[in-house]
Amino acid sequence: MPICCIRALGLAATLLFATSAAYPSAPEIAAAPEFVDPLPASRGFDPVVPFEPRARVELGRVWWTAPRAESVKQVAERFGIAHDDLRALDPSLADGRVAAGQRVLVYRHDPAAPSRSVGAPNRGRLEHAAPFPEGDGWALRAYRPRTWATRHVVVELAASIAEWRERFPEAQPVLLGEFSRRGGGTVRPHRSHRSGRDVDVGYVLLVPPAAHKFTVGTPRTMDAAATWGLVQRLLASGAVESIFMAESVQNQLLPHALASVAPERLPSVFSVLATDPRAKKQAILRAWGGHDDHMHVRFACTDDDVGCRDAERRKKGKKKKGRSAAKRRGAKGR
Ligand SMILES: [Zn+2]
Repeated sequence: MPICCIRALGLAATLLFATSAAYPSAPEIAAAPEFVDPLPASRGFDPVVPFEPRARVELGRVWWTAPRAESVKQVAERFGIAHDDLRALDPSLADGRVAAGQRVLVYRHDPAAPSRSVGAPNRGRLEHAAPFPEGDGWALRAYRPRTWATRHVVVELAASIAEWRERFPEAQPVLLGEFSRRGGGTVRPHRSHRSGRDVDVGYVLLVPPAAHKFTVGTPRTMDAAATWGLVQRLLASGAVESIFMAESVQNQLLPHALASVAPERLPSVFSVLATDPRAKKQAILRAWGGHDDHMHVRFACTDDDVGCRDAERRKKGKKKKGRSAAKRRGAKGR
C-alpha cells in the first residue's frame, strides 16, 4: 500500500530515526528525539549475511490519527488498551470523544518501565509493550489490538524494514500481520505470539494486494529479490532467532542468497538445503506449519527479558493422562 493510501486512512505515528543515513522524508517520521536511551543488547546471534546495518531507531512516542469521529472507548478497543490507560496516556481525551483527524497518543516510552518478554512464546506474556508505528515501507491493519511487541522487537523490525526500503525503494510495502497483545497471552488461532517476540510478515509482492491479506509466495506473485533483501537485513540485525518459511518460498529466495551467503553456510540458513532432520530444525529459515503466504519472524531473547526461552513442550505426563482419559471415554462409549 503506498504511503499516500496509508495517510488516507489517517493513520500516523511518530517514529524517530537517529541516523546519518538519508531516509526518504515521510510525514510519519519526525526528527526530534524525545527519549534517547541505548537499546538492550541482543544476545549476539552471529549475523550470517552481510548487510551493514546503519539505521538506529528511537521510539519515543507513537501517535495515531483518527480516520473518523470515535469514542475514546472505541479507540481503546482498536488498540487493545484499557480505557483508563489510554486517557492517562493522553489527557486531551478527557471528554470521551475523538474527532476525525485528531491525533491520539497511543504509546509513550517510559525508561522506568522496562519493556520485556516473559517466558516462552507459547506460554509467556509481555510487559510494557510498544505498538508498531506507521512508516514508509510497511502497512498495518486498521484494527490493532494484536500489533504489540517488546520495544526492542519494534525498534529492530522498524529499522530493518526502513533500511530494506532504502535499498528497494520500488518494492511494494510489506504487509504486517499478527504481533502480540499489549499484555501478551493467547492470540488465537496461534500457539505462539504470546510473549512479544513473534511477528507475521508478508512476502514482498509484485503487485499490491486488493486487501490487507497475505498472498502465497510464488514466482507469479512474489518479488523474490526484494523478499530476500528483507530477510537478509533481518538476519544481519543479529536480533532474529529464526524465521518460519515454507520450503517452496525458500527455493525461490535461494538464487538471490547465493550472491551474499558463502556456499558452505547456506545449509545453516535454509532448511531446504539441510540434509538431516536435526539440521533442518536448526537452520534459521525453517519450514514449519505452512508459512507459504507469510514468514513468522521470531526475535531472540535479550538480557532484559525474563525467563525467556524457546517454545515449551506440553508435559508428557499431561499428554498421557489426556490420552488415557480419552481411551476410557472411548471404552465407555463402546
Ligand atoms: Zn505467526
